[in-house]
Amino acid sequence: MTIAILALLTLIEGMRRVPAGSVVLRRVLFGLWTVERPEPAERLRLLSWWSPIVTTIVLAPRQSYQKTSVTDLRARLDGRELYTPLFDLRVLGVVELVALVLGVPLALQRFGAIGFFAALGAVVLLCLTIFTALLFGGRKLGKRWGWAFPFLSPFAAPRAAEALLEEALRDVAPAVVGNTLLPEDAFVGWMRPFVYDATNGREVEHRFLEGVNVKELRASLAQRPPSQNGQGLWCPRCGATFIHGDSCSECGVHLVA
Ligand SMILES: [Zn+2]
Repeated sequence: MTIAILALLTLIEGMRRVPAGSVVLRRVLFGLWTVERPEPAERLRLLSWWSPIVTTIVLAPRQSYQKTSVTDLRARLDGRELYTPLFDLRVLGVVELVALVLGVPLALQRFGAIGFFAALGAVVLLCLTIFTALLFGGRKLGKRWGWAFPFLSPFAAPRAAEALLEEALRDVAPAVVGNTLLPEDAFVGWMRPFVYDATNGREVEHRFLEGVNVKELRASLAQRPPSQNGQGLWCPRCGATFIHGDSCSECGVHLVA
């Protein structure tokens, strides 16, 4: 019972307000990153399921973006200044999550009050370690000391790695982040509607195309029709496949064979 309540409390930490136009990227453990369509409207969402088990980052729209390339960003993410704290925070986050949700109730059940306080002490120690690691990671990104304080909470501490990564990517154009983190097919597929809109004179938010070569992407898209089994129809804008119909239900664009 206690385990369920603690698990629920940590899960609630994953609830976040997502501004309109945000790009949400997600990965499970060390799996591949996935991306969603930009958020149509601001809303409250359950984003992270027991981060760092599921890591979710939100790229909220910015007025302007850092001039950076995929190569530079990759080098930064793989560099010691970010890679090490991110890795440490992820490992510590998993340990702290398990210690909090399973360790504390089980220690109480097995060893009584002494067990409970010992487990609690371990959780506090882990939180302090996470807080310190996040503080130094954040300092390198130019964050003030106060920024890391919310992550002293044992329920929020597991999210520290996610918060640091999000902070590092905050001013990077979404397409550059996508191109760096996502597998190539996923990235190209995600860019399809933006490229389509730009090519066909439709309205497109320029920030989604920042940092990419539209011409190259268009060529790359032309070589990748969406996977289909046999004689399907598909939407040239979003890449969705259809069995019949003449326009895409989502985009209102004429389907092609
Ligand atoms: Zn479509």
